[in-house]
Amino acid sequence: SMSMEDYDYLFKIVLIGNAGVGKTCLVRRFTQGLFPPGQGATIGVDFMIKTVEIKGEKVKLQIWDTAGQERFRSITQSYYRSANALILTYDITCEDSFRCLPEWLREIEQYANNQVVTILVGNKIDLAEKREVLRQRAEDFADAQSMLYLETSAKESDNVEKLFLDLACELIREA
Ligand code: GDP
Ligand code: MG
Repeated sequence: SMSMEDYDYLFKIVLIGNAGVGKTCLVRRFTQGLFPPGQGATIGVDFMIKTVEIKGEKVKLQIWDTAGQERFRSITQSYYRSANALILTYDITCEDSFRCLPEWLREIEQYANNQVVTILVGNKIDLAEKREVLRQRAEDFADAQSMLYLETSAKESDNVEKLFLDLACELIREA
C-alpha cells in the first residue's frame, strides 16, 4: 500500500519579484487556503509543501518564498539552484513592480538553470480600478520572453489554484 510520502513527481517552485507584490499571500492562499490579514505576511520558513493530483499522478510541490530577501543580488545562487519553476510576480496596480521585471530576468539568466519554466504573474486583479499595467502589455512582454502569463488575486483566490496546477502540468510535460 502507498504511504503518505509517495509521489510520482517532486518539483521545486520558487517565487521571485519585488517586495509587496503578494508572493507570500499567493503561497498562503494556495497551501493554507487563507489570505493573511494586515501587513507582515512573512511565513518564516524556507518552503511549504503541497501535493496535488494531476491525471491520477501525485505531484509534490515544494514552494519557496523569498521571505524578505527581494532586493536584487541579495538572493543567492543557491536559492535558484535546482528550481524547476519560477513564479515571477508583479503587482498590476504598481507600474514600478512591472518595470523591474527585466532586472529579475537578468537574475534568472544568471542563476537559474536553463531548463527552468518561468511563469509571469500579475497579482491583485481584485484592485482592477487601480490597475497601472494593461493586460495586453504584460502578455506581450511575457510572449517576447517565452514565459507563460496569468493574472491572479491572492485575496479573492482568483486563478491561484490554476497558477500552481498549470505550472505542475507544464513541468510534467517537460519532465
Ligand atoms: P510579498 O512581499 O511579495 O511577499 O507580498 P505580501 O504577500 O506580503 O503582500 C504584500 C501586501 O499586498 C499585503 O498588504 C497583502 O495584504 C497585499 N496583497 C497581496 N496579495 C493581494 C491581492 O491579491 N489583492 C490585494 N488587494 N492585496 C494583496
Ligand atoms: Mg513575502
